[in-house]
Amino acid sequence: MDAVIAIQEVALACPRSADIVQAGNFGAIRTFVEYANPEQKKRFLPGLLSGRSLMSLGMTEPDAGSAVTDLRTTAEKQESHYVLNGSKIFSTHSPEATLFLIYVRYGPGVGGIGSVLVERDTPGFTIGEASSFMSGEQWAPLYFESCRIPAHNVLLGPGGFKKQIAGFNVERLGNAARALALGRHAYNTAREHALVRKQFGRLLCEFQGLQWKFAEMAVKLDAAQLLLYRAVANAEKGLPAAYETAVAKLAANNAGWEVANEALQIMGGTGYSQESLVEYCVRRTRGWMIAGGSLEILKNRIAESIFERRFDQRSG
Ligand SMILES: Cc1cc2nc3c(=O)[nH]c(=O)nc-3n(C[C@H](O)[C@H](O)[C@H](O)COP(=O)(O)OP(=O)(O)OC[C@H]3O[C@@H](n4cnc5c(N)ncnc54)[C@H](O)[C@@H]3O)c2cc1C
Repeated sequence: MDAVIAIQEVALACPRSADIVQAGNFGAIRTFVEYANPEQKKRFLPGLLSGRSLMSLGMTEPDAGSAVTDLRTTAEKQESHYVLNGSKIFSTHSPEATLFLIYVRYGPGVGGIGSVLVERDTPGFTIGEASSFMSGEQWAPLYFESCRIPAHNVLLGPGGFKKQIAGFNVERLGNAARALALGRHAYNTAREHALVRKQFGRLLCEFQGLQWKFAEMAVKLDAAQLLLYRAVANAEKGLPAAYETAVAKLAANNAGWEVANEALQIMGGTGYSQESLVEYCVRRTRGWMIAGGSLEILKNRIAESIFERRFDQRSG
């Protein structure tokens, strides 16, 4: 809850700076802190928390996006080492990251999945050419070719997948907090604009068509905010519940994007220009509808709670 409030308050002043609160609290670092042993924490946490090093999450693969359990990057035990083979895509901040939390397969099935820690300069680990997301954040493909890592770099062994996803629900709440915060930043900026900008001899805020837009935006933000607080408050004693997290992220991702997009429209050319951060808020909030569990995958998860059964998405 402290970190959610910090993200939201920082984003009100500077949407970009909220990423720093995320990186230190909710990203891959949160899964690491949840499951790392004392020796791993001693080795990596001081650098990560001081900002000297940065962690990137390698989960997605070219053929394993939403179907993340189809991942093929293998970790094979050889004496006191594990040998990694495979590749990852879309790992945010991978061009600059110093440490990588990589989802791997020790054996077949969901039960064969776990995760390891890979340091940047490990032989057999190559970071490909950087690409940019629409948000401006960069990612690079990661390649593992007979990459040997010491056994003490295993974070979660076989059977770790469920734990990883439980930890990932915390990241989802950070994602939801930023989506809402950036929506609110755009809303505040548009509100200030509507209070001073005149057309047809009247202030924009005097046109009922725009007043109704603001009313709708306020309701979307407030509703999603309460759903986010429910998930976060109930998670205070452990990890967030999957259903409440999915509902909160879905509501916050939709509200953040819709409000930022509407704020841009209200501000006309000024909103579309890089002079304000509203266009940035639109670009950023769009990505969170895909990252960290797309809207569709969240709805699948919510439906499973509604019907109290699993719906296998695989054919045959
Ligand atoms: C901004 C951003 C940051 C990211 N950062 C990271 C990162 O740091 N580390 C990392 O590992 N990955 C990261 N990703 C990757 C992200 O996890 C994947 O993009 C996401 O899981 C979706 O996979 P995909 O892109 O392959 O789409 P696909 O899985 O190919 O899906 C395509 C579309 O089909 C829909 N779809 C798929 N299956 C179903 C279904 N069963 N029912 C209904 N609809 C379905 C999806 O919702 C989506 O709209 C990031 C992505 C973005 C956009």
